[in-house]
Amino acid sequence: MGTSCIVCQKAELEFPGVYGSLPRVGSDSRPLPPGGGILGQCMTCGTVQKVINDAYRAECKAIYASYVMYGQSAESAEPKVFDGRPNLRSVKLVCAITRSMALPVAGSLLDVGCGNGNLLRSFKSAHPGWKLTGLELDGRHREAVAAICGGSSLRTGQLADVTGRFDLITAMHVLEHMVDPVEFLCQIRERLTPDGAAIVQLPLWQKNPFDLVVADHAVHYNADALCRVLNRAGFRPVFLSDGIIPRELTVIARPGKGSLDTKKTDGPSLDAALGWLSRVSALAAQAMNGAGKKYFGIFGTGNAAMWTTKALAGVNFYVDEDPTRQGINLLTGKQVYAPEKVPEGSTVFISLPPDLSESIKTRLRHLPINWLTTPPLEN
Ligand SMILES: [Zn+2]
Repeated sequence: MGTSCIVCQKAELEFPGVYGSLPRVGSDSRPLPPGGGILGQCMTCGTVQKVINDAYRAECKAIYASYVMYGQSAESAEPKVFDGRPNLRSVKLVCAITRSMALPVAGSLLDVGCGNGNLLRSFKSAHPGWKLTGLELDGRHREAVAAICGGSSLRTGQLADVTGRFDLITAMHVLEHMVDPVEFLCQIRERLTPDGAAIVQLPLWQKNPFDLVVADHAVHYNADALCRVLNRAGFRPVFLSDGIIPRELTVIARPGKGSLDTKKTDGPSLDAALGWLSRVSALAAQAMNGAGKKYFGIFGTGNAAMWTTKALAGVNFYVDEDPTRQGINLLTGKQVYAPEKVPEGSTVFISLPPDLSESIKTRLRHLPINWLTTPPLEN
């Protein structure tokens, strides 16, 4: 195919054939048909990535043109992280940043891809002395961001156009969309003060294989791949965790050379992760046929749930613990129930990464529902 690796530039990508048969999903959770993207793995550096061609660019353009943040919530509510009790993910992240770094009382922060300002809001309440700036492609959240940070705090356009230097630059769920992540990270580094730091967060496909079927994610990271692009961009990772937000990687990096002394990433191979996705799809179909459509639902309303839906002839309802997602789902027109409101005797397939799927089943086992989980993910 003559395609070279996004990260190391070697023209040695391998293409697992099964990917072409899997449905996909946009990062806005919109289900997409199989066959529209090519997934490859670099045989030299191991990075899992999409082939960036005209078809890839056209599909991303179409996804972003109709992009509504978090797709399906009337209030653009931030997805909550459920670990027993609801907790906004940005609050968890700011807590982790505050624990991991000695932040001064005053400083400047730029949040690249700030959306409606969730991270800025959480950061402001923990560090009120800081001057905050958000960057977005357009100005649709200008008022929301200004309400957090004060006037002229939202910049619109590309990072390349941002002038000035910042003590912290954050990019949450941005890097995986970049077709040239090294260049993007260089742009971040050039905008940091000498003692500044970058904080990047993104999905970890080895813990969440559903990331692989997100059509507009150009690179699928694990710790190795993330450290590799950071090093190439002149960054030294100083903190890396896959536990702050489960199944996601959070890294703090400072300008400079050097690597983090981390254990080699342990996790499933790409073939194993893709095989798991095929199995999940087959199990969902089997569960639906067994239950009868009327009494069959899918747990969740995010990417994983909508991806699972695409492979099924029809899903009767969805289940979500997040109250802002309950009601009629905008993408499917179907009802989203709170777990307690699911019709008795229904079968609900918890189509999520295995550890999360199991923990939800355990938490909700007192309800008169046949909860089905996804299979274990083997290496
Ligand atoms: Zn490579």
